[in-house]
Amino acid sequence: MNAPVTNPDLRRIHGFPVSGDQLVVGGLPLRRLAARVGTTPFYAYDRGLLTERVAALRHHLPAGLHLSYAVKANPMPAVIGHLARLVDGMDVASAGELAKVLDAGMDPSHVSFAGPGKRAEELAQAVAAGVTVNIESPAELEVLTREAARIGVAPRVAVRVNPDFDLRGSGMRMGGGAKQFGIDAEEVPQLLRRIAELDADFVGFHVFWGSQALRPALIREAQEKSVDLVLRLTEHAPGPPELVNVGGGFGIPYHEKDEALPLAVVGEGMAALSDRLARDLPEARLGIELGRYIVGEAGVYVCRVVDRKVSRGQVFLVTDGGLHHHLAATGNFGQVLRRNYPVVLGTRMAAAAVETQSVVGCLCTPIDLLADRVELPRAEVGDLVVIFQSGAYGASASPHGFLGHGGPAEVLV
Ligand SMILES: *Cc1c(COP(=O)(O)O)cnc(C)c1O
Repeated sequence: MNAPVTNPDLRRIHGFPVSGDQLVVGGLPLRRLAARVGTTPFYAYDRGLLTERVAALRHHLPAGLHLSYAVKANPMPAVIGHLARLVDGMDVASAGELAKVLDAGMDPSHVSFAGPGKRAEELAQAVAAGVTVNIESPAELEVLTREAARIGVAPRVAVRVNPDFDLRGSGMRMGGGAKQFGIDAEEVPQLLRRIAELDADFVGFHVFWGSQALRPALIREAQEKSVDLVLRLTEHAPGPPELVNVGGGFGIPYHEKDEALPLAVVGEGMAALSDRLARDLPEARLGIELGRYIVGEAGVYVCRVVDRKVSRGQVFLVTDGGLHHHLAATGNFGQVLRRNYPVVLGTRMAAAAVETQSVVGCLCTPIDLLADRVELPRAEVGDLVVIFQSGAYGASASPHGFLGHGGPAEVLV
């Protein structure tokens, strides 16, 4: 990644072109982009890369698939607005996210609302808007029913299932075993009987098994097991499901040793799955919901070097950024191991990496470490540090209030 560059004009790095000594984001060399934003630090999301990513999913995954965007990955309104025209649906996890997707003009019948701890007011807003509520507990179903009766609208409900299988090797397991998410598979028949008694539209099932999976065999196994489970549960359903959402979980390569997910291979597995569903549940549409896979690689975080210090032989690039903007890049967003995100000096792309330097933020805590001892060209004050793979779980997943520096700017370019 940081090898000396021989022909800078022909280079792309993590999907972004390089022109001379500058990284190019959204068609703009980095210095020009920074001048246009008018401040550092900032997040920039590349519209073209977002479009390309959805096109690649459409190309490799089965026709007719219901592709949903999980808004929590990046809820910037401009990003939601751009994706609203490209995906089939959106998955929200709060009334705040719901308002944003409705503002973007998403058809409410293609919006689902998942997540534990939905409050009565949020459920009422969801019913009034006509979005599907993914039920996470029997108590939630009762509150939803009460709110729906008060409003006089039959709620659209899907059941979020906590699967009875567990998968090793997905980055973050969110199903199987005891979980606060979804309803244990063995309890689902009872819940389905309750739904049948109520004045509710049954939409289908949502099985979410995990996140950040980079092995296609694992994704295939999880999806097949999800469909097996849905077929078993459908026997107890008030009607045939319209939508079978087999989760998402497609990962992106954050670290040097990670390999990108081979989408064509994932697509083969999904084609078989889609055929099977067409045969066994002809009314149902196969769905997936993706967050980071759609937006993660399309975004960069950019901060400015404000000081260059040497402490007992180790070089520190002190920047105006930090964990208050990009918690995940510092390894503090639930990661077990701290590993560097890919990082470059976006204003010295044509220079050779000649020095080991650590990139730190401006917070008074040793965990504010953006890149630990990386080989970079020699940086000077004013250089712009770029952290790739920053389009998901960045700005909105970081503690902006910590130390009072304020939040980052965000642009879609
Ligand atoms: C967080 C979440 C997602 C998105 O996960 P990614 O790893 O970003 O794709 C999708 N669905 C549900 C239910 C989630 O909680």
